[in-house]
Amino acid sequence: VKRAKATGRTETYQSRTFDLARRQFSIETELRQAIESGAMRLHFQPISDLASGRIVSFEALARWKNLRGVELSPVDFIPVAEESGLIVPLGRWAMHEAARVLAEWDQKAGGCCDVSVSVNLSAIQLQRDHVAGMVREALDTYDLTGDRLTLELTESAIVTDPDRIAQTMRALKDLGTRLAMDDFGTGYSNLAYLQKLPIDVLKIDRSFISGLLSDRDKVAIVRAVLSLASALGMETTAEGIETNELAQTLAALGCTYGQGYLYARPLPADQAYTLLSASRT
Ligand code: C2E
Ligand code: MG
Ligand code: MG
Ligand code: MG
Repeated sequence: VKRAKATGRTETYQSRTFDLARRQFSIETELRQAIESGAMRLHFQPISDLASGRIVSFEALARWKNLRGVELSPVDFIPVAEESGLIVPLGRWAMHEAARVLAEWDQKAGGCCDVSVSVNLSAIQLQRDHVAGMVREALDTYDLTGDRLTLELTESAIVTDPDRIAQTMRALKDLGTRLAMDDFGTGYSNLAYLQKLPIDVLKIDRSFISGLLSDRDKVAIVRAVLSLASALGMETTAEGIETNELAQTLAALGCTYGQGYLYARPLPADQAYTLLSASRT
């Protein structure tokens, strides 16, 4: 360690020698501070109607620039947040921040902003927190109706306590929100839950979308998911659309919505609003 001169290199070398638990602890401590000090940010990625191209929603995605100015990916810090329980305050912050931004867009648009915001809910939040109360509080604080929110859940949320989750989901539906099953196709395989739970949208995981055009098996899977959704009266969103051909193919297959770098990367709130207002003129 002492022989490496550049701080960057030293840090990399040291972090490799740290044991996992210790690293996790330091991320956890920093993450707690970041949440408390307001250092977290949300970025917003548009979700568009594939047939018309109209932006219908923006997914709110957490971003964290740590004390050394390094932007950390949610793929790295969300699992730490879940294991430590910090996902509860982080998730509550994300919900309130998403509602605040939506109310700000409404105000800027003179009250005629019609998009919704999609917020991710972790399985841990659904188990531990009184999620419906938390969501209602965010809606009330910013004077928003529930139909302006889509809540994205993953299949892992359903596995642990199906009855309790069903109850929570109904309470969320009672608020008027829409519910989306995120990363569909990557988790739990017992599809019986689709009948029982009030799900409005299936979000087809990016792993089935990328490389779709050159993979007949993926086409078969996507077709099957689309027909399943349609039979159950659900809408569909394809994640990770990066090319025009993909967007066209998915529209032709009957997928309802699309999200991906083709349209926009996740953007800071002001840039997302600029994109939205440009698309509405
Ligand atoms: P997700 O909910 O499935 O979000 C979509 C992810 O795909 C985002 O990654 C987005 O940036 C990425 N993505 C979108 N379009 C494309 C594309 O065309 N190509 C590629 N390669 N990627 C694309 P991100 O922002 O890194 O978030 C990763 C995951 O972290 C999310 O997956 C979600 O599960 C979780 N996450 C993010 N923010 C929150 C949060 O506030 N709360 C909770 N519970 N989870 C969050
Ligand atoms: Mg999501
Ligand atoms: Mg997703
Ligand atoms: Mg995904």
